Amino acid sequence: MTPDVLECGQPAIEGPLRQLLGRYGLKLVMHPPGAALPGTWWGEPEAGIIGHTVHVRPDTPLHSALHEASHLICMEPQRRATLHTNAGGDDLEECGVCYLQILLADALPGVGRERLMRDMDAWGYSFRLGSTARWFDEDADDARVFLRSEGLIDSRERLSFACRGALETARDATLRSTSQDATPPENASQDPMR
Ligand SMILES: [Zn+2]
Repeated sequence: MTPDVLECGQPAIEGPLRQLLGRYGLKLVMHPPGAALPGTWWGEPEAGIIGHTVHVRPDTPLHSALHEASHLICMEPQRRATLHTNAGGDDLEECGVCYLQILLADALPGVGRERLMRDMDAWGYSFRLGSTARWFDEDADDARVFLRSEGLIDSRERLSFACRGALETARDATLRSTSQDATPPENASQDPMR
């Protein structure tokens, strides 16, 4: 029997989930009930990922959609660019993904981390300390450090709403435009207003 977990097709879930993913530049595609899901690694009803898109159907568990979205958020841009089905990544990244999916639940009204962690336990995620909540509270320093060093959360665990690598790209662009602004003053004499 399928455990009782929040599902993507619930009206209170789908809209906010779509908005949340949108803040990261990710797209949620809702497929009809019973449809085959493109890009699913675990098989339906678990979510699939291709490029910047998370594929779900109404019975896809919310935790699965958040997990796969977190994979997209946590991977390097080069991997994201060619991503299909298999998220790859190392153990540390996987821990970061699990931690981030719990934080993302806090950004969904009426969901929150406690509910999501219960859903993860019910689904059979297994952590060394027995429950997701104990892992999150007591054994997830490496995940926190990873997320912080990649700019995905700040020191108070607030979400940056940027995918891994996106902030560096933005910072590089800022540096470039700043150095362009700093060109010598002869430009000023060409100012048509003078
Ligand atoms: Zn994973």
